[in-house]
Amino acid sequence: MKTKKTALVCGAGGFIGGHLVKRLKNEGFWVRGVDLKYPPFAPTEADDFVVGDLREQDVVRRVVDKGFDEVYQLAADMGGAGFVFTGENDADIMHNSALINLNVLEACHKRNVKKMFYSSSACIYPKGNQVDPDNITTAEDTAHPANPDSEYGWEKLFSEHLYFAFRRNYGLDVRVARFHNIFGPEGSWNDGREKAPAAFCRKVAMSKDGDTIEMWGSGEQLRSFLYIDECLEGVRRLMDSETFYGPVNIGSEEMISINGLADMVMDIAGKKLSIKHIHGPLGVKARNSDNGLIKEKLGWEPDYPLKKGMEKTFSWINHQAKELNK
Ligand code: NAD
Repeated sequence: MKTKKTALVCGAGGFIGGHLVKRLKNEGFWVRGVDLKYPPFAPTEADDFVVGDLREQDVVRRVVDKGFDEVYQLAADMGGAGFVFTGENDADIMHNSALINLNVLEACHKRNVKKMFYSSSACIYPKGNQVDPDNITTAEDTAHPANPDSEYGWEKLFSEHLYFAFRRNYGLDVRVARFHNIFGPEGSWNDGREKAPAAFCRKVAMSKDGDTIEMWGSGEQLRSFLYIDECLEGVRRLMDSETFYGPVNIGSEEMISINGLADMVMDIAGKKLSIKHIHGPLGVKARNSDNGLIKEKLGWEPDYPLKKGMEKTFSWINHQAKELNK
């Protein structure tokens, strides 16, 4: 009998990690998940799930107890603009995520893990490259000279360097992708860590026609958002590549303003609401994924329309909101 490939998903109780566990199970992997918590919205499909703190070395040694075929390191102390850009969580963001990466990477090296994935972020790109909407760039080779717009971005950049140093010095087969605003069902939507797509879906779902909802800033900031299934497709393709290990953007090139995103959600819900623009944490003015490298190296790029992903996400959040109000 052919033995199953083994995978460890760190952050398996989170949004992307929870979906990744399902995908790996569908592909026939034996999967262990680890997180501070179980996935909040659906039971885990992992064969083994450890509730534990990856800042603790003994926990990390316990979960990385063999030379897994693949380890996916997604655990991080993170959230949307309301968590990352206020400055209030900077110490935790840097300390907790760096500690997780230091611990997990060393354990994977010691156990001779065969392949390892690290989820970096579009937030590593210099803020100066994301001011003028006509001249933004997130080409992978523009990360330096570095000047990320948040401590979250600095930690991600430090950890990218850490992973690639282990690749160079110890031959650990590390792969790195920079995610650009991933969204979809079963993600944070009302706990203060949600991002713009989920936040608007919640606000619209919980309002009646004619109500007013609040938006941070003018709504003119430009962003792109990538549906979860496409993110996982990119990750799996990167892990299966014979020759390419990144860093590579995994994001959408379909840019939209935050006002446009709010209009899209209202359209999906069939509601007309007024928007009150208020002061709030924002991030850079304009950011889009540059998909030149992923197309060149993996022969693939995401193409699922934003609207379709938002329809699925709204439908899920609308259902959650109704359950909450019962
Ligand atoms: P998430 O917050 O839903 O998942 C992260 C998980 O890590 C959480 O379940 C959390 O409990 C867990 N975690 C945090 N500290 C831990 C600890 N000490 N020990 C064990 N588990 C711990 O976030 P997500 O959206 O699923 O993101 C996954 C990864 O992708 C993160 O590294 C994130 O920085 C990166 N990323 C995400 C996006 C996005 O748009 N979602 C964009 C760029 C990068």
